[in-house]
Amino acid sequence: MAGLFDSLRARRPRVDKVATPALPSDHWVKCSGCGNAIYRASFLENRKVCEKCSHHHRMSARERLELLADPGSFEEWDAGLVSVDPLGFGQDYLDKLKSDRERTGLSDGLLSGACTLDGIPVALGIMDFGFRGGSMGSVVGEKVVRVLERAAERRIPALLVTCSGGARMQEGMLSLMQMGRTCAAVRRLNRVPAPFLVIMTDPTTAGVAASFAALGDVILAEPGAIIGFSGRRVVEQTIRQKLPPGFQSSEFYLEHGFLDRVVPRSELKDTVTAILGMLAVPAEVGR
Ligand SMILES: [Zn+2]
Repeated sequence: MAGLFDSLRARRPRVDKVATPALPSDHWVKCSGCGNAIYRASFLENRKVCEKCSHHHRMSARERLELLADPGSFEEWDAGLVSVDPLGFGQDYLDKLKSDRERTGLSDGLLSGACTLDGIPVALGIMDFGFRGGSMGSVVGEKVVRVLERAAERRIPALLVTCSGGARMQEGMLSLMQMGRTCAAVRRLNRVPAPFLVIMTDPTTAGVAASFAALGDVILAEPGAIIGFSGRRVVEQTIRQKLPPGFQSSEFYLEHGFLDRVVPRSELKDTVTAILGMLAVPAEVGR
């Protein structure tokens, strides 16, 4: 028997191992919607939307700015506003803020400024989930208020792109106060009147979903975005009922009248400019 195996082994054709050139892993990204590998270059070209399942992946504030604003039109506001540690959480929190500042290139979780969209002047604010989960503390709240106030002063539309896990835990009550402050600023903008547009992106939850984000004259959202106040499990445990499928998705919110439209990312800028074109009051008429 041993002889038979030896002869089989001897006859086995020798295949020289050819090293398959390993593609550097940073050339591929895994879609968090369908799990497929997507070539990074086409993923970025497709604005981070999966070409196989259309899952809309998160974008940074700078990527969003590039998607929406006319090239070269953006003038940043309040880049020097940085969070402190008012409740004394300590060095660990300060280190996290520092590393988020370095990683995102933002002073806090919101990038804001003046820009034009297809030539229409707009006061713009974009939240970045990469900075402490897009959480709203005093700085984010203050920057949102300033976007709305400057829009009111200039009688131009305000556009806020939301992406947030809610209030910033490390600022406690000071974070929660931002809900009231931002809502009051929306009211002042409404009195001008100047249009206020919101684009909800994944995720828009808790203190942001329950304050200024819900007050847009027009509220748009990206497909499949999670929108809601508390997480699904918390709601189920509280009301002791099973929630319907798709609960807290942008499609569910549209169906139930909280949103005006769910807009794919590829159509976002055209849709926003079309709406602004209809709502914007020419300066000479507004006065
Ligand atoms: Zn996919």
